[in-house]
This record gives sequence, C-alpha cells and structure tokens, in this order.
Amino acid sequence: MSEDCSFCGNTDFKEKSVDYVYRRGDKMLVVNGVPCTECTYCGERYYEADVLVRIESDFEAIENGTREVEHRLSVPVEDFSRLVG
Ligand SMILES: [Zn+2]
Repeated sequence: MSEDCSFCGNTDFKEKSVDYVYRRGDKMLVVNGVPCTECTYCGERYYEADVLVRIESDFEAIENGTREVEHRLSVPVEDFSRLVG
C-alpha cells in the first residue's frame, strides 16, 4: 500500500486482524480474523489484494456448494425510516 492514507493523509498505520464483511447483492459473507492495515487517524482499513481475492473465491465456493461454511448468522435488516423512537 501507499505510505499515506488516501482519505486523510495520515502516515501512521497499525496491523490488525478484523472481521470483514463481503457483500454481493443480498448475499453476505463474514470472514473473521482478516489481516489488514488500519489508519490510526481515520480508521480506514487497507487490505492486501490477495486477501480480497481469497475472500471472493471463498464466497464463490460457498455459493456453488463446493465448500461448507463454518457457521451461519441470522441477521435482522431494518430501514432507518421504520425505526422506533
Ligand atoms: Zn486515514
């Protein structure tokens, strides 16, 4: 990645392991423990290209049934205009 954050220009980053949410249409894949580099100022996360490629191919393997997913989440979805209070 470049030496400075493309959003805020900060040059200080830290290596982290995060939960990454991949989404395609109505389908999502949550991958825990994904390595990334995070801007210490604005929090923007940068991922290695091969990390994103692996997540995408994992998503496709799950979609076409060649890979069994570890477990599934049930996720409620709301529109903000419907919220109470
Ligand atoms: Zn930043």
